[in-house]
Amino acid sequence: MGIPAHREAELLAQVPTGLLIDGEWRDAAGGARFDVEDPSTGKVLLSIADASTEDGALAMDAAAAAQESWARTAPRERGEILRRAFELVTERAEDFALLMTLEMGKPLAESRGEVTYGAEFLRWFSEEAVRVSGRYSTSPDGKSRLLVTKKPVGPCLLITPWNFPLAMATRKIAPAVAAGCTMVLKPAKLTPLTSQLFAAVMMEAGLPAGVLNVVSTTSAGDVTGPILKDPRLRKVSFTGSTAVGQGLIRDAAHNVLRTSMELGGNAPFLVFEDADLDKAVDGAMAAKLRNMGEACTAANRFIVQDTVADEFAERFAARVGAMATGRGTEDETKVGPLIDAKSRDKVHSLVTDALDGGARALVGGAPEEGPGYFYQPTVLKDVAPDARILKEEIFGPVAPIVTFSTEDEAVALANNTEFGLVSYVFTSDLNRGLRIGEKLESGMLGLNAGVVSNAAAPFGGVKQSGLGREGGAEGIEEYLYTQYTGIADPYAG
Ligand code: NAP
Repeated sequence: MGIPAHREAELLAQVPTGLLIDGEWRDAAGGARFDVEDPSTGKVLLSIADASTEDGALAMDAAAAAQESWARTAPRERGEILRRAFELVTERAEDFALLMTLEMGKPLAESRGEVTYGAEFLRWFSEEAVRVSGRYSTSPDGKSRLLVTKKPVGPCLLITPWNFPLAMATRKIAPAVAAGCTMVLKPAKLTPLTSQLFAAVMMEAGLPAGVLNVVSTTSAGDVTGPILKDPRLRKVSFTGSTAVGQGLIRDAAHNVLRTSMELGGNAPFLVFEDADLDKAVDGAMAAKLRNMGEACTAANRFIVQDTVADEFAERFAARVGAMATGRGTEDETKVGPLIDAKSRDKVHSLVTDALDGGARALVGGAPEEGPGYFYQPTVLKDVAPDARILKEEIFGPVAPIVTFSTEDEAVALANNTEFGLVSYVFTSDLNRGLRIGEKLESGMLGLNAGVVSNAAAPFGGVKQSGLGREGGAEGIEEYLYTQYTGIADPYAG
């Protein structure tokens, strides 16, 4: 069972393979192309144009040229383009889901979930486009008037990762479009096809030429470096690893750019003895195994009260052990491959280090035979406090469990990381949940919930997990700047 091969071929034939610059799909300057692989087979899906520095400069030119008229376009018109894009993505939900599964590996059911989530940013920001407002007020001394307005920041560079190929793009493109900014999008080289198809949908929805330019490339730094130095660029929005984000913040200092950084995570998942363990295990499954654990929001450390740790671990391991790995297009697959051999090997080195330090694998603990980059869903117990797996982002289907006895100890363990994206707390005591939430250093909190992502909520982290927020009422603010006009007293004559 699963998806027939001809359906895959028909879909791939619809994906634009050029660079989108100034409303046209073009070949790369030197004619270069690169292959995009299916991580569950290692086979090439499609070959697409590989942008160079020169192509990046053309994309920047197009974004800069389109900025003024785009900023003057009526907010309602910008909103309606987003609304049409929402409808088109929803109509083509099965195409987007299959394309993501092919290039990224996640099971089709999860890709469908991402289409819903990703499309929701289009709908949300279609509504936010017409809600940007300012204020007019009298100064405290009554001698002048203060006019405060919001304006689009200007051309933006958007850089996205491979793990959520649609949602990470719409979470940036939709608020930029709503605010009246033009943009250059550089998708991840491992999963550019979804962005290519999505850009075609944006054009079909009526986006004017030059507003969205897409430069897929295997030379990220060569393409984005000169764009970051271009004085016409006003903002960089990045989702990806903390190490690359730190480099981009340094580069952004050159022109003192506005920056939004959605970086790595190391989420703690706290289970208190008063938690409903069925719900805690359900939450753990979602927070750990969604996207094969390749999510910045993935629970990285399970911190469980010692009195319930054995029972939680046993139930969780039984569920994890029943998760079938396989190609995402197959009906029975619950866990797809990791994105590449490097990622699979990194996951295994973290597991090996933990096992060498005294941890026990209740289930899993090893890579699977190829083809494809599969790793067994794994639960580790008795993990030593200094194990690398508790400090580094795992980005795989591996759950290390440690225990605590007091609330203070739980909070100290949870906050013992340079990251601060999301935390999960499972308890039946609401006061305890709120109290712990106040003490946790993270931009988001899941209270008896294993998934927090929602287009209507401000997504983002603190500490080395990033700067700024995407989604919610806050999301559009990242693409606006405030202008204040001081007006002389209208009664002064
Ligand atoms: P990554 O290696 O940092 O890459 C992210 C993007 O940056 C890709 O498009 C990549 O291009 C590009 N890039 C790499 N080096 C660059 C450079 N020197 N200059 C400009 N661009 C550069 O991260 P990833 O492996 O794709 O994604 C996984 C990471 O993203 C994890 O750490 C995860 O936590 C984080 N993430 C965070 C969030 C969040 O909202 N906080 C959401 C999703 C993922 P190439 O594809 O060519 O390498």
